[in-house]
Amino acid sequence: MRGLMMDTQLMISSLLRYAADYHGDREIVSRMIDGSIHRTNYRETHKRAQRLAHALERLGVKSGDRVATIAWNNHRHFETYFAVPGIGAVCHTINPRLFGEQIVYIANHAEDQFLFLDLTFVPLVESIAQELSTVKGYLLMCGADEMPETSLENVMCYEDLLAAESDHYDWPVFDENTASSLCYTSGTTGNPKGVLYSHRSTVLHTLCVMGADTIAIANRDTLLAIVPMFHANCWGTPYACAACGAKIVYPGPFMDGDKLHELIEAEGVTVALGVPTVWLGLINYMQANDKRIDTIERTVIGGTAIPASMLRTLEDDYGVQVFHAWGMTETSPLGTTGRLKAGEDALDTDTQTALKLKQGRGIYGVEMKIVDDDGKELPKDGVASGELMIRGPWIAKGYLKEEGGAVLDADGWFPTGDISTLDPEGRMQITDRAKDVIKSGGEWISSIELENTAMGHPGVAEAAVIGLPHPKWDERPLLIAVRSEGSEVTGEELTDFLARKVAKWWLPDDVVFADELPHTPTGKVLKTRLREIYANYTLPTARDQSAATG
Ligand code: ADP
Repeated sequence: MRGLMMDTQLMISSLLRYAADYHGDREIVSRMIDGSIHRTNYRETHKRAQRLAHALERLGVKSGDRVATIAWNNHRHFETYFAVPGIGAVCHTINPRLFGEQIVYIANHAEDQFLFLDLTFVPLVESIAQELSTVKGYLLMCGADEMPETSLENVMCYEDLLAAESDHYDWPVFDENTASSLCYTSGTTGNPKGVLYSHRSTVLHTLCVMGADTIAIANRDTLLAIVPMFHANCWGTPYACAACGAKIVYPGPFMDGDKLHELIEAEGVTVALGVPTVWLGLINYMQANDKRIDTIERTVIGGTAIPASMLRTLEDDYGVQVFHAWGMTETSPLGTTGRLKAGEDALDTDTQTALKLKQGRGIYGVEMKIVDDDGKELPKDGVASGELMIRGPWIAKGYLKEEGGAVLDADGWFPTGDISTLDPEGRMQITDRAKDVIKSGGEWISSIELENTAMGHPGVAEAAVIGLPHPKWDERPLLIAVRSEGSEVTGEELTDFLARKVAKWWLPDDVVFADELPHTPTGKVLKTRLREIYANYTLPTARDQSAATG
């Protein structure tokens, strides 16, 4: 027997329509490329998105066509987030920090038909335009008076396009499983692969992001989106803010501590989301200038592990609650969040910190298990660690054009490539990425734990650990550290420091110092590059060993 409830299709356009109908005055504030502040609201934005929908159809964009963006966080980018999927096309957000050849690969692979771009990226796109084989036209996200001289062909002005159209458009209703947006994984693991979200997955993820036990985005919030809109749908925040009418603050290209601080104060930001590096800049600025961020109630930090010192600084010195979140492009991206559970508020600070430093606990909608190398499920005891497998309605089941082949296992679980533990409370803690774990004498050493511990030393600004070949142990850890300003910490001092905190057999066999570490466009340490740089480096222990055996 079938239920007798309406089979309303979950459409992305319905989120913005709701925002305009019920929270029309709530603002969307953007810092533009020239540094000026632009203000609009949901009512106006809905009208403009309808104009854009007409414009896209006039350009000939059809259902399923991919329309790309290379843009900062701003109101125009927000409009494309709704208008492109709203007409049934696919909004492909491209990360401008990728190398030109990667962008060419991605845009050609996706067969992008049109490309929206902020003026900042005109030179970048000019340099690769000849190789973009499917792009029919470029839409410059600016007003007519800002249109630059450019060698790009078939260039259009965003504001002119909108001005020519009606601000009334009947958003079509179609199958909620229709593709809505596309984002390529940043390629730390081979060729970039296209993750193709649907209207259904996006709307369900939106409801989850709003949930009181996750990020709890609500109408009263003013959300600062530090996470870029070209990264995993800006962690779903554009859709979640529309779904409750939260005020949005977009920093544009200006991510420096002073600029972020200015926006937080001026706009009364209550919740901010971003990766640890950006927070570091903000904290440094506040410390140096005796500033505060008292309007911020909570922050959600993810993408890489939060250093313990950052968590404590934000909570103790600035009164900001910190929630750790874990996710991937493939998980829309919310997978876990770290809100404390009932009764845990009463725990002492150290215990709470230890819980908060885990990547988060299971949320409804994302099933989790860990497995060993043979795919056998491991106990959820907080000790056993294995590859994290997940399942749920906003988790990818494959990549665009079946890149990378079949992804799921026989029971439909997605292998995350992350090595983690799961504790009996449902908390997940990443111990490594599968390819970064150091296999020493048949046992695993967590590079992440060593890095985090090393970064707890005041003389260390950043640290990375990679496994290098060892004749006896297979692999042993090398610690690569960047000294913090003014620090003269030595390798020996660092090893002594680590020896007080980790098992003896985990201690790095050598410590080297670097001026900086290579990063991916999304701010993660690029371990593949480090492995290349240190490919010919022989650990002193390996030398001793070969001498002894040779
Ligand atoms: P890519 O997989 O291409 O690097 P993503 O941006 O999708 O791109 O990164 C997802 C990965 O980032 C996760 O698989 C995990 O390894 C890491 N990650 C995300 N959040 C956290 C976190 N809170 N702590 C530690 N690692 C994290």
